Amino acid sequence: MARTVTLIPGDGIGPEVTGSAKEVIAALDVDIEWEIAEAGEAVMEKEGTPLPETVLESIRRNKVALKGPLTTPVGTGFRSVNVALRKELDLYANIRPALSLPGLDLPYKDIDILLFRENTEDLYAGVEHMVGRHAAESIKIITREGTERICRMAFEYSRDQGRRHVTVVHKANIMKYTDGLFREVFYEVARDYENDFEEIDERIVDNMAMQLVMKPNLYDVLVCPNLYGDILSDLCAGLTGGLGVAPGANIGEDIALFEPVHGSAPKYAGQNRANPLATLLSAKNMLYYLGYNEAADRMQEAINAALKNPETRTKDLGGSAGTREFTRAIVANLG
Ligand code: NAD
Repeated sequence: MARTVTLIPGDGIGPEVTGSAKEVIAALDVDIEWEIAEAGEAVMEKEGTPLPETVLESIRRNKVALKGPLTTPVGTGFRSVNVALRKELDLYANIRPALSLPGLDLPYKDIDILLFRENTEDLYAGVEHMVGRHAAESIKIITREGTERICRMAFEYSRDQGRRHVTVVHKANIMKYTDGLFREVFYEVARDYENDFEEIDERIVDNMAMQLVMKPNLYDVLVCPNLYGDILSDLCAGLTGGLGVAPGANIGEDIALFEPVHGSAPKYAGQNRANPLATLLSAKNMLYYLGYNEAADRMQEAINAALKNPETRTKDLGGSAGTREFTRAIVANLG
């Protein structure tokens, strides 16, 4: 029986990169039926909301979704649909792997970092307001429950994947209550996993940023509150080839939404310029999640072969191929 998956094409380069994922998955002959659900800027004009209830209903029904990036106006306008989706569906864990890919000429080789970002709290809780006309306040929310579940998921998942070293990232020297609580709960949860890992340790976020730039191969699993996770995952993406190659997944109790880390890159929209790899790798991780392991392995092999040939790489990776040519090369490699 076909598995129905919600597909949100997204804004900007979204339709191109999700189109690429659809094409590759069709070539894999996996029994997936897409239920298209439009959200974002285009829908805002038609329906007066960037996140119609039908989109949430579709994801709640299908339990699994693949999503292109969605634009959020800066400073004014509607709030982030990406953040709203994570909050509405309680997708509390944002998992962002950073993995060195073959064929790319980058300063570091063999990076394999798995970053867990808490996805619903911290300064993203949206509790922000003006205080009079000349000051603004944003409330940073960290709860024991929210921290415990992301830490537990990080330890469980990392243990199942045979990871060896887990690092919590915080700024508890300054934010003694909020980040202090995150750190404290991390170590409480860690007690249940002490024997499963060689090292469980901590880094203050500013030092973490420097360490990742200078010695990324020392790190394995990072567990971060929302904001640090957002920033450091882009840093990790930069270490492995840029935003064009960075996949992500938002996971809750029984719903999973897979999406690239990057945004809608409006300057590349409709130009056959976007690298679809971040979306393809997100889709590959979705296939593993759905149990299509063999198809996911084949997809990775076909991607690796396409990356080894500079002519079939996209421009952000030093190649000359467009979104469509890179996609076609992967499909051809699937034989
Ligand atoms: P962005 O990720 O869209 O783009 C930043 C730069 O990265 C681009 O200019 C481009 O040079 C490069 N880039 C990104 N994706 C690429 C790809 N697939 N191939 C090649 N190059 C790529 O970030 P931004 O410009 O800060 O944000 C644009 C919009 O996207 C904003 O409205 C923002 O809110 C939104 N956004 C959405 C998400 C999401 O949907 N999850 C995430 C981040 C940003």
